[in-house]
Amino acid sequence: MKTLVMQATPQALAYAKELIEAGEVVAFHTETVYGLGANAFDDAAVKKIFALKGRPADNPLIAHVHAGYDISALVETPAYTQKLREKFLPGPLTMVYPSKGKVSPAVSCGLPTLSLRVPSSKTAQAFLRAVGLPVAAPSANRSKHVSPVTAQHVLDDFEGEIPLILDGGTCSGGIESTVLDCTGEVPSVLRAGLVTREMIAAETGACEVYVPHAGERPKSPGMAYKHYAPSCRTAFFEEGMGEDAVRCYLAERGRGGSPWFLCEHAFAAAHPSFSSLDLGASPEEMAANLYSHLRTGERCATLLIGIEPHGRGGVMEGVRNRMLRAFGRA
Ligand code: AMP
Ligand code: MG
Repeated sequence: MKTLVMQATPQALAYAKELIEAGEVVAFHTETVYGLGANAFDDAAVKKIFALKGRPADNPLIAHVHAGYDISALVETPAYTQKLREKFLPGPLTMVYPSKGKVSPAVSCGLPTLSLRVPSSKTAQAFLRAVGLPVAAPSANRSKHVSPVTAQHVLDDFEGEIPLILDGGTCSGGIESTVLDCTGEVPSVLRAGLVTREMIAAETGACEVYVPHAGERPKSPGMAYKHYAPSCRTAFFEEGMGEDAVRCYLAERGRGGSPWFLCEHAFAAAHPSFSSLDLGASPEEMAANLYSHLRTGERCATLLIGIEPHGRGGVMEGVRNRMLRAFGRA
């Protein structure tokens, strides 16, 4: 199969609609990462996504809809969710609702809930409007690999296996959406992202952060799996362990390898004679750069050395979560 990479022109959108209606899978740009989408009403199409990615069968998908879609046909909407939709949508917030069971049970892997997202990317909105259906879509990477933030990253994982990638350029957000459980009285963050716990609590008065108890099946099954792993060897050093990181770098160099640091700007600036993939200084910059740097790192480094960035809370929670998991630390 030839994989076409197209901007969201009227011709491309008509082709995308035709593919989705025929039960095919289409990759598309969003403001977080690229998605791999299929008609959420079509069992066989949704199962294709799991097969393509090698995704575990118990890791549910997010259904994506355009900004004008009437979600009350698909889910129950607790009162407080209205404020959150008004404030944050379209945008990088996925909300998990009690499902009305209208989409394929494969989307939520049999759970009684359905997660919905309204992406703000122009390409995603144009695609979802053209299709007019909820599109089930996980990130468009092979399971466990680093999520894609360019059309080229999607090609690197799926060239020849999917018919179309709707190219909207580099994803500006860089990490996956916040996943918020809205099935209880108080919303609860299942996965940290660019819409932070603090921002949500400012709207609803309270917001929890879900932490699975030992041995419990997590509420967001995806968080139990190893994720975002670059294909090269990696090492990771916590804050304050910079000297050990430098020793590790020099040892790899001594063995004839090509070590690279993956670090925040302050560390790169303090080590100008070392090869560094500089994530930037602000949490938003770090989020935007993380996956593209991980994909660059796996191509050019024999050993990618992660340095724990400073800062907690807000967007750093999402950055830290993805980075620690990429380096096998969470
Ligand atoms: P991905 O699209 O690859 O970023 O994965 C979607 C994430 O959303 C995974 O971590 C899933 O576990 C989570 N998710 C999707 N649907 C649900 C749901 N109904 N309940 C809880 N978590 C969900
Ligand atoms: Mg994913």
